[in-house]
Amino acid sequence: MPDVFADLVGQDEAVDTLRRAAAAANAVLRGPTSVEEGAAPGDPGAGMTHAWIFTGPPGSGRSVAARAFAAALQCAYGTGCGTCPGCHTTMAGTHADVRLVVPEGLSIGVGEMRALVLRAASTPSGGRWQVVVIEDADRLTEAAGNALLKAVEEPPPRTVFLLCAPSIHPDDISVTIRSRCRVVPLRQPPPDAVAEVLARRDGVAPDVARWAAAAAQGHVGRARRLARDPEARKRRDAVLAVPRRLTGVGAAFDAASALIEAAEAEAEASVAETDAAERAALETALGAGGTGRGAAGAMRGAAGQIKDLERRQKSRATRAQRDALDRALVDLAGFYRDALTMALRAPVAPVHTDTAAIAEAGAQKWHAEGALRRLEAVLECRAAIEANVKPRIAVEAMMLALWKG
Ligand SMILES: [Zn+2]
Repeated sequence: MPDVFADLVGQDEAVDTLRRAAAAANAVLRGPTSVEEGAAPGDPGAGMTHAWIFTGPPGSGRSVAARAFAAALQCAYGTGCGTCPGCHTTMAGTHADVRLVVPEGLSIGVGEMRALVLRAASTPSGGRWQVVVIEDADRLTEAAGNALLKAVEEPPPRTVFLLCAPSIHPDDISVTIRSRCRVVPLRQPPPDAVAEVLARRDGVAPDVARWAAAAAQGHVGRARRLARDPEARKRRDAVLAVPRRLTGVGAAFDAASALIEAAEAEAEASVAETDAAERAALETALGAGGTGRGAAGAMRGAAGQIKDLERRQKSRATRAQRDALDRALVDLAGFYRDALTMALRAPVAPVHTDTAAIAEAGAQKWHAEGALRRLEAVLECRAAIEANVKPRIAVEAMMLALWKG
């Protein structure tokens, strides 16, 4: 039976650290010196501490690592065996002492964080640890960050915070929070390791697994989608057709529109079902009509709740669009990276094996400088959108730069 760390692809060093920490945490719970006497957490000698940050590029498995570590902390054997109830319920997302924060919008608000910190301070019902996993801790609002900082500075004795962020750059995580945390850096897993796990765990045919792992550029979740979802493959094909379609100014604007609209459609499909279900549940909970005393006040309250929901859903849709567009830009960057490495005759495998011939033609025509300029145009577009430039404007500027070279 694979243990809870089995899905962490190509991260031997991080897994080693986490296994040791889980064993140390287990020793704290069983040991003769209790937490109250100051043995740990927070004691560096114990190998365990109360606040962690998992960093790494998207798809490297930050949240997978955090969840696996949470399971190991709740594991009856302190190892993350993968089979005991503690491991099992944590991995299934139903453990009473593990709280998972997955921000749906562009940021995590202070209200959500305060409620979480409050609950995290309670005594663990399972007798082990209260674990709080915060995915995308870089999306904390400043106020939410401050609420979290207070908890991390004065941690309840049995509470462990696991944060996930792209990096420990101050843009991603505040310096004060970072200073209280131990950092577990994850690396971009090598394509071989990704292909191996797709084949072993998901039953993907080895050649498809190798292709998907390379095309996903180290993003495990993306590799799995490419290997298994024909729609995801179709969207990728459309993106990779862009370089061939850039034959003039008009074509560049058309390509920009197509890219934006495809991202919107993909995002809409991904949130539509949840949106409708949430709306129906809220309307049922609020009840319809009502004429008695206080009905007018209740209706005002209901309108407020519906507005709230709509705001949350809009924020989630915006994020889904940005994520979809970013995936497309990463694919496109991979194509120009291939052209660049071919122009340089660098002995590295292409990202997109299926468009290698087109990238080679581009390399002949553009030479290394032209390929590099185009790659930079794609990366600049990503950075501009990250800095809140309107996506359509950024993408149009990119397409023009790709066409002109
Ligand atoms: Zn276990």
